[in-house]
Amino acid sequence: MEEKIYDTVIIGGGPGGYTAALYCARSGLSVAVLEKLAPGGQMATTGQVDNYPGFEEGVDGFELGEKMQRGAERFGAATLYDEVTGADLAAQPKRIETTGGTLLARTVVAATGASPRELGLPDEAALRGRGVAYCAACDGMMYKDKTVVVAGGGNSAVADALLLAKLCKKVYLVHRRDTLRASRVYLEPLKSSGVEFIWNSRVAGLVHEKKLTGVELEDVRTGERRTLACEGLFVAIGRVPDTGLLRGQVELDAQGYVKADETTRTSLPGVFAVGDVRTKPLRQIVTAAADGAVASKYIEDFLAQME
Ligand code: NAP
Repeated sequence: MEEKIYDTVIIGGGPGGYTAALYCARSGLSVAVLEKLAPGGQMATTGQVDNYPGFEEGVDGFELGEKMQRGAERFGAATLYDEVTGADLAAQPKRIETTGGTLLARTVVAATGASPRELGLPDEAALRGRGVAYCAACDGMMYKDKTVVVAGGGNSAVADALLLAKLCKKVYLVHRRDTLRASRVYLEPLKSSGVEFIWNSRVAGLVHEKKLTGVELEDVRTGERRTLACEGLFVAIGRVPDTGLLRGQVELDAQGYVKADETTRTSLPGVFAVGDVRTKPLRQIVTAAADGAVASKYIEDFLAQME
């Protein structure tokens, strides 16, 4: 029996991946989306999304992920819940090894997004789930009525701090500078949230027995250290692109993002990158979705030129 060759295999079921799937499937291409967990990607861990147009009351990120999945499946895109273990992207057809077997594809879309950056502290990994967390929407309830620290000064840190302030006894926000990087939209709600700022400081150590009992804070100007008692630490210091599979096959920039311009084309013909994994000035749901739509145009062009 002849093996099926997909017109495109999309790795990652976030907004970029499912928008590419929707556009390609609607154009009559055969499409598979590989997703290891659940649709939505990073978006699925966001309780309330207010900056994706069309939802005047906002929308739950997990629900939006499911809607995007169903929208693409309506036109025939298949979702395969398998993890990708390897890929030969230079081959034609391209080969994608997964926990469910090998897939063949004429084009591949990398929509793998990014994962939380770690602080890099001793015992950080061992304390994950025992006081150290990376997603307030996912793990916040475990810290109800407790004291927590959020590390970071960007949109994620501030959104996490605001969410935790509704649940926790006390929330401290520790930032290495004295001004936030986060959007202004968060400043007003922060004022009335009860979140206490600790400026010019970094989390320099984790205090623990079996579970986290506190963090060691360092004043970055004086080097002075002190211990702050807490039961939870939410690390929100940015993200690192998930490019493990692509390394050595497509060009990456110095930060590890896949080099691709507005066309979403990478350095390797037939391989496209959409959403947070690619070089771009604004990483948002709407810009990831836009990438997915653009990718479909260049996928069609690539397939036409193969014929
Ligand atoms: P980010 O914008 O890159 O901010 C990272 C923050 O962590 C910065 O304040 C940075 O400090 C700090 N930081 C970085 N490395 C650190 C370290 N080793 N130790 C201590 N602090 C460190 O990352 P993000 O907040 O995760 O957001 C990622 C992207 O998603 C952004 O484009 C963001 O706009 C987007 N996002 C948007 C929303 C929204 O629109 N509602 C929500 C979440 C995320 P400095 O400021 O000193 O560099």
